[in-house]
Amino acid sequence: SKEKSGTYHHFFRSEMSDRSLENIMLENALYKALENEELEIYYQPQIDSRNNQIMGAEALLRWNHPIKGMISPLDFIPIAEESGLIVPIGRWVLLNACKQLKIWHEQGHTDMTVSVNLSGRQFEEDDLLTMIESILSETGLAPDFLHIELTENQIFKNTHFTIDKMKELKMLGVKIALDDFGTGYSSLGYLKNFPIDTLKVDRSFMADITKDKDNAAITSTIIALAQNLGLDIIAEGVETEEQLVFLTAKDCFTIQGYYFSKPLKADALTEKYM
Ligand code: C2E
Ligand code: CA
Ligand code: CA
Ligand code: CA
Repeated sequence: SKEKSGTYHHFFRSEMSDRSLENIMLENALYKALENEELEIYYQPQIDSRNNQIMGAEALLRWNHPIKGMISPLDFIPIAEESGLIVPIGRWVLLNACKQLKIWHEQGHTDMTVSVNLSGRQFEEDDLLTMIESILSETGLAPDFLHIELTENQIFKNTHFTIDKMKELKMLGVKIALDDFGTGYSSLGYLKNFPIDTLKVDRSFMADITKDKDNAAITSTIIALAQNLGLDIIAEGVETEEQLVFLTAKDCFTIQGYYFSKPLKADALTEKYM
């Protein structure tokens, strides 16, 4: 019930002493954020650098807090995960991102895809597949336009469970991207067992890529790995012309980053790219 999910519920939680008052207040505010329509999805374009055409967009959640203003997902996603609120919030993001993509398709941009981040907590939910299936049928979106982004750390908690779940997702027809690739602690062997479609090179490797030999080597290796395994590759966090030139020379053409665009409201993206 509502009452149960309100303030009192948290007041007596045993882990309260471990958590900052700030976090507890944020969690309570987050309960209300969804129904108060304080959450909003921004879309960051993924551009084919060969022709500057938009291929897809990543849905990125924003919280417009009435007093604090914009709160970064880096600050509230962990709270949403810890409290379990990420489940209804994540469902809301999926539904609205699919609805938005359907609008773009109806406007004639029929090849466009949308990428949605899935937290480990959502991935573990028993009804994940039913949830996604019902969103696809409600919106009438063909499944292969929906790309689910998972990080290595999220999917490596329980390998057997993970492979099964990923295969079920694939059977629905959605695509799976491995986010922040290269920052996790897992072995590379899983890449051949897991039904992954896309690797996203983490943006930390883009820093100083023309001068930092380690970052250049790591990025080149990840791109070559994806190419040799027949996976798609997206470079994240591309901010400069030098980075773009470096990536283009390695035949990495799908680019997401401030060089092309910050995340935008759907209308702004429509205006800029369509
Ligand atoms: P992420 O999935 O790795 O998303 C990419 C982040 O990099 C976004 O930050 C994006 O704004 C930022 N970014 C993109 N290009 C550039 C660039 O050129 N330079 C720099 N400095 N940054 C760039 P954002 O939107 O703050 O999101 C942070 C993280 O929050 C995301 O990282 C993701 O892990 C999480 N997140 C965001 N939305 C959701 C959501 O709906 N569900 C879940 N579970 N997590 C989300
Ligand atoms: Ca992501
Ligand atoms: Ca990422
Ligand atoms: Ca990240």
